[in-house]
Amino acid sequence: MESGTLSLCATPIGNLEDISFRVLRTLKEADCIAAEDTRNSIKLLNHFEIKTPMTAYHEFNKVEKARELVSRLLKGENIALITDAGTPCISDPGEELVRQAIDAGIRVESLPGPAAFVTALTLSALSTRRFVFEAFLPTEKSNKKERKAILESLQKEERTIILYEAPHHLKKTLEDLREAFLENRALSLARELTKKHEEVLYFSLDEAIQKYREEEPRGEYVLILSGASREKKKEEAQAKWEEFSIEEHFEHYLNEGYSEKDALKQMAKDRGMRKRDVYKIIKGDVKK
Ligand code: SAM
Repeated sequence: MESGTLSLCATPIGNLEDISFRVLRTLKEADCIAAEDTRNSIKLLNHFEIKTPMTAYHEFNKVEKARELVSRLLKGENIALITDAGTPCISDPGEELVRQAIDAGIRVESLPGPAAFVTALTLSALSTRRFVFEAFLPTEKSNKKERKAILESLQKEERTIILYEAPHHLKKTLEDLREAFLENRALSLARELTKKHEEVLYFSLDEAIQKYREEEPRGEYVLILSGASREKKKEEAQAKWEEFSIEEHFEHYLNEGYSEKDALKQMAKDRGMRKRDVYKIIKGDVKK
């Protein structure tokens, strides 16, 4: 018997008009819809008059439930996966089911649609060329060590940084980011995206911290932060070498096994100087 297809169906993050024709047809035609929270998803299904039976697939039953769903797929059933909002597998359960389905040789298709981080990024007015999606930071309660390690790693991150955050953790996360970055950064804060009260704020981390000292955050947030400036990092690296004399710097590379030529080349790069100027200083032709 031919096995069925697992369809990952992206659903709206607020505005029901954002559902695609393909997702609607797939949800209608599937034998079963696996939903993160069936009580929540019934509203979506009722709105679009979809009568397909649902079953719960969530964080706390995902391994067992994925096994059950895979065995149904192997018997030829077509199953659609949806989450509370947005794209399955993006900060939502799905990964386990996809892995088990692929391992079992089942055809998996992904029906693209809304994802909060993409929507927020396009509105951020920050660089969209290269970005890193960090999803939710672990909380101090769930994993303090990992939270600290991620925050530290983000300090040097040059790409635009994207985070998800719940309202009750927002203040702490803003403060921790400010502390980890050791500097103020541009921030775009998006909430209620695609909904009636959609709001995108363009300010800095310091301004955001100040704002939420005075008012309580409401709604679900996407934080988009500018990455570390490459220029600034270059300046910091140059400042480090400027603490050493040219001779000490030269000596350092010779001890590292560099040839004289390569040492001069690297020194010029480190100090933001021209190679021949470094050379002249080394040869004592020029005042240091
Ligand atoms: N799978 C979803 C997606 O594709 O974006 C993400 C699910 S994750 C459990 C929920 C988080 O997404 C929220 O805490 C918030 O950070 C973000 N989010 C979801 N809908 C949003 C909206 N309408 N406006 C702003 N952020 C939203």
